[in-house]
Amino acid sequence: MSVQQATEQATEEATASEVPAAAPEIDDESTNRRPALSPSRAGDFKQCPLLYRLRVVDRIPETPSPVMVRGTVVHTVLEQLFQLPPAERVPAAAAALVEPTWQELLAAEPELAAMFEESDPDRLAQWLTSAQELLDSYFRLEDPSRLHPQSCELRVEAEIAPNGAAEPVRLRGFIDRLDVAPTGEIRIVDYKTGAAPREVGEARALFQMKFYAVVLWRTRGVVPRQLRLIYLSDQQMLTYTPDEVELTRFERTLAAIWAAIMRAARTGDFRPSRSRMCDYCDFHALCPEFGGTPPPYPGWPIDSAAAPDPGRESPLDRAD
Ligand code: SF4
Repeated sequence: MSVQQATEQATEEATASEVPAAAPEIDDESTNRRPALSPSRAGDFKQCPLLYRLRVVDRIPETPSPVMVRGTVVHTVLEQLFQLPPAERVPAAAAALVEPTWQELLAAEPELAAMFEESDPDRLAQWLTSAQELLDSYFRLEDPSRLHPQSCELRVEAEIAPNGAAEPVRLRGFIDRLDVAPTGEIRIVDYKTGAAPREVGEARALFQMKFYAVVLWRTRGVVPRQLRLIYLSDQQMLTYTPDEVELTRFERTLAAIWAAIMRAARTGDFRPSRSRMCDYCDFHALCPEFGGTPPPYPGWPIDSAAAPDPGRESPLDRAD
């Protein structure tokens, strides 16, 4: 795989992103309930099996952080921006979408209000301003008036059965933006609003992008030409070019992760794995690494209606 790091000019973008073709979007409740692997949850399991268990099996609610929720707001604004006519995709339009997007999110999840104390209204104002600054950064990296994405916030799903896998693995996730060139070449774009340390976050982001590349390869029969990560906080873009050999190998990695999850699901042996990413974990009180005790393992439900859905992602999952 070749890895390029470049702050590319927006003019390069336009030629690679025209002529939208109809893309099959998956919106089937029956498949939605089938257990699946998402990049976020696969990343959780790789980072710490106990973290995966507490999130996916126990489903213990987590406290949303302002950084995470800001990521959701920025992603939603960027999605809405591309619904505007190209000439209207300007910084002022994006800035004007921030407050209403936050209000909509708040209406859907009123508990988010707890992030900001009523006694300190400046904090909310600063937070909204920081979201606008991330959007300003976006305009320094790309010119959205020249882009014609085929899809934004595209839900994708595929089942893979690589050689040697004990069982097929269902993959599911959301792609921030999909560009398709007139030649049929595909570019997967993912926005990062920055929360994890860059080197850790980058490895996780690359994992996520390869995951989506596999799903698109298997559903469309084309290896995506580019995987593009747009880091808004430090105004940088990373562009990766995957190839078939690499993705074939990566499929085996995904199958191995799923097999490990299934083994842990049977035994209940989801061990904690301490790392610097523990700083971002909400479960210290339930983690033996921090003197806590996890709740008794509830078991991996076998009733499909109640089965945990490792592929289900909330908007907050997609934030970063
Ligand atoms: S605190 Fe660290 S070791 Fe404990 S569950 Fe969270 S990520 Fe895992």
